[in-house]
Amino acid sequence: MIASTTIDSQFIADKARELQIELWDRQCTLWQGENVTPIDVCDPWKAAQHLEYEVQEGWVDSPGMRAGVQLGGFLNRPMKLIGLSDQLAQRTMRFTLAHEVGHILLHPGLHHHREIPLHGMTEPHEPVNPKERQANHFAGCFLVPTKQLKRAFLASFGVEKLTLTDNVAFELLGGSFMSLMNTPYDSLAFDRVVAQAVRFSGRQFGALNDLFQVSPTTLAIRLRQVGLTRR
Ligand SMILES: [Zn+2]
Repeated sequence: MIASTTIDSQFIADKARELQIELWDRQCTLWQGENVTPIDVCDPWKAAQHLEYEVQEGWVDSPGMRAGVQLGGFLNRPMKLIGLSDQLAQRTMRFTLAHEVGHILLHPGLHHHREIPLHGMTEPHEPVNPKERQANHFAGCFLVPTKQLKRAFLASFGVEKLTLTDNVAFELLGGSFMSLMNTPYDSLAFDRVVAQAVRFSGRQFGALNDLFQVSPTTLAIRLRQVGLTRR
C-alpha cells in the first residue's frame, strides 16, 4: 500500500466551506450592522480577522530575495501575522491573502512562508510544490464557492451548464465564434469566455469573474471544476 501524503481536493473544498459557515455564523461580529450576503462571506480579510491573524498591508520587505523579485506577502504563524504588499492590484491582494488563509488551515507545520504575488489559481504559473497547489485550490474554493457559483451561473445564463457547441460559441462571440471552436480540447479558452461574458441569449448581466472579484482564469478553472462548462 502506498501511503498518501497529499491532501485530497475535496478535503480542501470542505475546509473552505467550513470556514465560510463560521464567518456566516459570526456575521453580527465581523460585519457589525451591515447586511451580509453569501458572497460577502468570500472575504479573506474577514477570514483572517476570524482566525485572529493581523493583516499588515504595506511595503513587504524581502531580505534574501534576489534583486528585482517582488514579494506578494508572507505568513508569520508564531506572530499570527500576514504581510500583504499594497503594491499589488486589488484582486492579486485578495487571492494572495486567501492563499495564506489556506496555508493557516491546511499546513500547521508552516511557520514562516514568503509568497510571490499570486494573481490566481495558476497565475503566474501552476506551482510545483504540493502545498502551494493546495493553498491555491483553497483560495479558489473560498473565493468562488460551488453553491454560489452555481446560483450565479443559473441567474446569469438561464441554464444550469454550458457545453461548447457552434450555437453556444455564436451566442458568446458572434461572428468570430469559430476562433473558439478551433481551440485545443484541454484549453480553458471557452471557460474564460464564459467567465467574462456579459450577455447570452438576449440576457445581460455582470461578468462572473467580476462578481467574485477573481481573475478570468481562476473563475474559468472553478467553472470547469464545478462542471458548469464542458466541451
Ligand atoms: Zn504559499
